[in-house]
Parts: sequence; structure tokens; C-alpha cells
Amino acid sequence: MVYQRLEEITSHQEALSLLKEGNLRYVAGQTLKQDVSAEKRNSLVEKGQKPFAVIVSCSDSRLPPELLFDQGLGDLFVIRVAGNVLGPLTMGSVEYGVEHLGAPLLVILGHNHCGAVKATVDGGDAPGSIGAIVERIRPCVEIVRTGGATGEEVYEHVEDMNIKAMVAEVKASPVIEEFLHKGSLRVIGAKYCQETGEITFYE
Ligand SMILES: [Zn+2]
Repeated sequence: MVYQRLEEITSHQEALSLLKEGNLRYVAGQTLKQDVSAEKRNSLVEKGQKPFAVIVSCSDSRLPPELLFDQGLGDLFVIRVAGNVLGPLTMGSVEYGVEHLGAPLLVILGHNHCGAVKATVDGGDAPGSIGAIVERIRPCVEIVRTGGATGEEVYEHVEDMNIKAMVAEVKASPVIEEFLHKGSLRVIGAKYCQETGEITFYE
């Protein structure tokens, strides 16, 4: 049976529950049959989109948010960039999703075994515009190394710290701050484990 959700999601509590439930279904291999019919597409054009969450995730091909959270057309407003880092263009998209589309939840979604983090930690050549991504993650590497982390834990700690740094950065946006102040938005960091499929929210 094709899944249909008719109600509009306006609270961040409800939005977070939907993401958690969807990820549990994904982990259990019990995903819903999402509606990808022409009727659904057309109704989203007519009524307009009303995504219940903005997701900033890494571009890594192994973590498409719609699959990990088991959501359908029109549910998630997704911004993907290697290393899930923010910059003027990505921040503009985030603000649009919150201010214009009214999403009540904003998730910064990182993951383990992140290639962008590994490239930054390992150093070496970052040709072209790849350097701009590395530069955004580098401050986290310095903090983690100063903290005494070694070996594999450096990658893990940098992944965690990068998520937290981006949460702090997005919260500092005047547009986002306004919605947080009104209580109509929640910003939360999360990390995906590729082996288990589980997403842990930093609550
Ligand atoms: Zn990544």
C-alpha cells in the first residue's frame, strides 16, 4: 500500500519524531512505499511545497537523506555539500527553507567515514575549489589535535565537532535566530553511522 500523510507538520517535535521513526524503519528494512505517482507530483505543484525539515547533509552518495529518513516527495528540503559545511550559498538555501517554506526543523547531518573530513585531517593537495571545503573543516582539526586525540579517533572527533560547529553557525544567522526566538524552529545536529544505518541526534 502506498503511504499517504495528509496532515501538515508544523511543530518541530512532530517533525523530529517523523525523522526518528523513518530512520528506525530504514534500519529495520521496513521502509514505506512512498507515493511517486503523477497525482502526488501534480498536487505538490498545485498546493506548493511544505517540507517539514531542512536537512544540510554531506554529498556522500551513501547518505541520501530521503532514504535514511524514509521520507517522500515534498517532505525534506535538502542542501547537500561535501563535508556538510555552510557558506553563503548553502546558508541562503537554509534560510529560504525556514523563512520562506516554513520548515519547523533544521538538521545538520554529518556521518562517519566522511571523505571531506579525512582529506582535511590527512592534509595534502586540495586542488581547485576543494580547498574551500577543507578550509571550513580545518579549524576543527586543530582543536581536536590540541585536545590530544590520536589515530582513528581524530576523524571521529572532527566529524562530531564539524557538525556542532555548523549547528552553532546556522544558529547565528539573523534569519534563523528570529525563528528560534519565536520558538517555531529547532536546530539540531545528527550523525549517520554507515554500518548500522542509525542516525544519532545530538539532543
Ligand atoms: Zn562526508
